[in-house]
Amino acid sequence: MQLPLQETSKDFEAQLKKAKKAAQDIFLHIPEYKDCPECEGEGLAEYEVGVPDFSAYFGGEIETRVGECENCLGSGRVEDDGMNDDNWRDGHGS
Ligand SMILES: [Zn+2]
Repeated sequence: MQLPLQETSKDFEAQLKKAKKAAQDIFLHIPEYKDCPECEGEGLAEYEVGVPDFSAYFGGEIETRVGECENCLGSGRVEDDGMNDDNWRDGHGS
C-alpha cells in the first residue's frame, strides 16, 4: 500500500493558497471609516416626531426625540465612501 504523500502535500498547498487568498481578501476589503456626518460621530441623532393631538383642531405637534442614529446605526462611524459630506444635508450643523 502506498501512502498518499503526494496527495497530502497537494492538499496542504491548496489550503495554503486558500488561506493566502482569504487573508488577501480581508486585507483588500478593510473599509475606511469616518465620523458619521449625520450625528457627527456621537451615534445619536435628533428626530422630529409628529405627535397627534386630537384635542386640537389641526391636531398634532412636532416633538424632538433623540435616538440611535439611523445613518450609522449608533456606532458613530460610517464607511468612508470618499464622498464630500459638507453639503450632506441642507441646514445641518451650525
Ligand atoms: Zn450617525
